[in-house]
This record gives sequence, C-alpha cells and structure tokens, in this order.
Amino acid sequence: MSDADLRYEREVHGLTVKVDLDLCVGFGDCVDASPECFELNEDDLAEFTEPESVDRETLLEACRSCPVDAITARDDEGNLLAP
Ligand code: SF4
Repeated sequence: MSDADLRYEREVHGLTVKVDLDLCVGFGDCVDASPECFELNEDDLAEFTEPESVDRETLLEACRSCPVDAITARDDEGNLLAP
C-alpha cells in the first residue's frame, strides 16, 4: 500500500478501516471524537493520524461518530463493525 493510501486506509487492531473520500464532507466529528485517530487535511478531508495509539473500542467509536457514515471498519472476517 502506498503512503497516499495509508492516509485513508489502515490495518489496525485487527480491523481494516477506510475513509471514503467521496462521502467525507469535513465536519470533523471523527477528529473531535479522537484526534489520536483522525485529523482534517488541507482539503478538509479526514485522514489518519496514529490510530495505533488508541484502543480498538476508541477507534471504533471515532469511526461511528461520522454523521455521513464515511468511515468503515471491518474485522478480519469482513464483518462491518462501523458504522
Ligand atoms: S466525521 Fe465523517 S465527514 Fe466528518 S471529517 Fe470525519 S469522516 Fe469526514
């Protein structure tokens, strides 16, 4: 995976977490929920900061905080855990 892809897709805590850039509208709820996981970039789109630094449940809560369901998290069996 390229560095650019890692800004918006990560494998962390046994989860595959993705930000859908077509859906993200830059409200920043995910950033408010966990700035350790997400920040807004220069285009006002969410990208990862250091999601490894928080526990799995905190990461999932931040994913679920998105009002437009732009962040998905799947476990290693493909089950959708967020939103
Ligand atoms: S909460 Fe959703 S829409 Fe808002 S910045 Fe985060 S991913 Fe984008």
